[in-house]
Amino acid sequence: MAQIPTQPVDIIERFGPHRSVATHLRLDTGVVPDRAVKTHCCFCGQQCGIQLLVKEEQVVAVEPWMEFPFNQGKLCPKGVKRYLQGAHPDRLLHAYERDPSSPDGFRALGYESAIARVASEIGRIQRQHGNDAFAVLSGASLTTEKTYLMGKFARMCLHTANIDYNGRLCMVSAAAGNKKAFGIDRAANPWSDILKADVVWISGANVAECAPITTDYVWQAREHGAKVIVVDPRLTPIARTCDLFLPVKPGRDIALFNGILHLMIENSWIDREFIAHHTVGFEAVAAHVAPWTTRRTAEVTGIAERAIRQAAEWWGTAKTSFLMHARGIEHSSHGVQNVLGAINIVLASGRIGREGCGYATITGQGNGQGGREHGQKCDQLPGARDIANPEHRAHVAKVWGIAPEELPGPGVDCYEIFRRVERGEVKGLLSISFNPIVSLPDNDFIRRMLEKLEFFVVIDFFLTETARHADVVLPGSLHEEDEGTVTTTEGRVIRIRKAIESPRDARADWRIVQDIAKALGRERGFTFASPREIFDELRAASKGGIADYSGITYEKIEKTFGVFWPCPDQDHPGTPRLFEAGSWNPIAKGTGPFYFPDGKARFVVAPYTPPTEDVDAEYPLMLTTGRVVSHFLSGTQTRRIGPLIDHCPAPKIELHPQLATRLELADGDWATAETRRGTCTLQVQVVRTIRPDTIFIPYHWGGAKSANQLTISAQDPISKIPEYKACAARLRKAQGPPAYVAVLEPQQ
Ligand code: SF4
Repeated sequence: MAQIPTQPVDIIERFGPHRSVATHLRLDTGVVPDRAVKTHCCFCGQQCGIQLLVKEEQVVAVEPWMEFPFNQGKLCPKGVKRYLQGAHPDRLLHAYERDPSSPDGFRALGYESAIARVASEIGRIQRQHGNDAFAVLSGASLTTEKTYLMGKFARMCLHTANIDYNGRLCMVSAAAGNKKAFGIDRAANPWSDILKADVVWISGANVAECAPITTDYVWQAREHGAKVIVVDPRLTPIARTCDLFLPVKPGRDIALFNGILHLMIENSWIDREFIAHHTVGFEAVAAHVAPWTTRRTAEVTGIAERAIRQAAEWWGTAKTSFLMHARGIEHSSHGVQNVLGAINIVLASGRIGREGCGYATITGQGNGQGGREHGQKCDQLPGARDIANPEHRAHVAKVWGIAPEELPGPGVDCYEIFRRVERGEVKGLLSISFNPIVSLPDNDFIRRMLEKLEFFVVIDFFLTETARHADVVLPGSLHEEDEGTVTTTEGRVIRIRKAIESPRDARADWRIVQDIAKALGRERGFTFASPREIFDELRAASKGGIADYSGITYEKIEKTFGVFWPCPDQDHPGTPRLFEAGSWNPIAKGTGPFYFPDGKARFVVAPYTPPTEDVDAEYPLMLTTGRVVSHFLSGTQTRRIGPLIDHCPAPKIELHPQLATRLELADGDWATAETRRGTCTLQVQVVRTIRPDTIFIPYHWGGAKSANQLTISAQDPISKIPEYKACAARLRKAQGPPAYVAVLEPQQ
């Protein structure tokens, strides 16, 4: 049903991606804007403060917002060029429905008719196959108000358990590890603590390209004398400037953390008093790491023994420190164990909950933090509540004005939703701000599942590669067309301010969702008149939960450049640094700083397991994937912005000169990377900054350029994050560019 009825080239011709460049008002450097709107960048979890300059209801330029404390006016290339996404030739201005007779596969449809069709199909599928036969996929780039509404819409309007979100591909291993060890899922410290650290440890984070403004914090710490340790299979830009680089083999991070803890214990570089008073479980972890000698650690990780010893000594003997990690250790079939291994060396040091003593995951998506707190995860209700917990269900049901029994139980993760499509259990799908055909692993499987759906509706502002498979497309809102809040990588709740109106038939996403509810005849609970009204209900729904936003108001955010949660009442100033003595904690209630009834943090044994698919004679290389500075996630926006395309027009396969020599490849040659899932033919880039046993492909492109044709759908058993960072691959020289280059390249 959702098969593309025409050639991709015809869809691309009509809907893009086309490139936008500065024209008309944007080209005129003398233009006087009608207004400057202080808001935040639409891309990554840093959420830099930015001013959008508006002229004639069009965002025509950006200016720094110097007063916003996190970035103080600094922006990366994506932030500087983000204004080129508005008034874009590809912007969806109408609803569309599939029309096999149309050359581009779609025909425009009146908004009301489109809503009526969506409601009718949802009703039909649920009547015929049950409520859970209709699923919802949501996004972590949406404001927190929208993510809250999506969770409520799925549970209270559609009565389906099947909702999940694309943060499943991003921060969930860190979330699960943090909950296991600390009882709360948030960066423990504001970024200002990085500046006060003697040692900054960065594991699996290409900071300079993926979280560019954090680079400034790390470099400032270094200026103050901090030692910077970077662990990565690639010598990334931040690693080029570090004091110690540990080139770990992909997927072996737990072994390193266990080996470091072994050395810390052996040399008494641990804080026994902190461990005794504020933690449980140390003995079991100490016994577990006893066999992780430096030699064994070196053998497994591929890192020199001397470097491991040096890292342990710097980390073990520091007075202050900050450990941060990101997808490099989290995108793994043992991502939660990796995170727990990292937390174990933080807890053993006793350096947490104090100034200059920090720990954090660097969030990826714009609202990666807020988007995982208020109910769009398959097992979660607002306030980071547990959907299986009767007390939590009762609280949220009361706020929503329903009986707890009316709330569905836990659903399944987003990849499992597609497996349910394969089994015929899910027949219909609504997807908002999620591009699974590019971003999920083994994406040929995802394509086949989209084609199997009886009905597929997409809400988005561009026709993504995923939306090409839709039966109905509803034109949603760009970041600058709506207001709301997001929560940054630090845990700071900030305001997104509306700069312009949505064009033509496009609508704010929350209005579209409420219109569907109304058309279904299930309007109760979906009559909000503004994001502020949604936020006020969210505050009540989160009250008493761990992610307590009840004391946060739009006005309070305005006054203080954001409020860090938890913030349990209006007189509370918020909580920039977690785990400080005496800080508010609804679980420990004064017994200690961590979010368990005894107030103590948990050491958790983190056993080493290799990647699900290790190298062998047939596939002798490790493939790892990641980002480049010019593009963002599945590229829906950045592959439409001309200057960013010029920076990086296409993905390349990075490989080491030794491997290039062996395969008789030179820089710029074409090569085919192959795994057990598929093949991908791209140009190669020969670099000395990668391990000779590893190849790297960035994942921002779809179709024949998609790195996720190759990746494996193995998932962490706890967090359900896919293993993007390690699978077995091989590489061979190709005769030249594949046919798609000639066919599609002019438009892209
Ligand atoms: S992409 Fe991230 S680092 Fe770059 S300007 Fe936007 S929020 Fe800041």
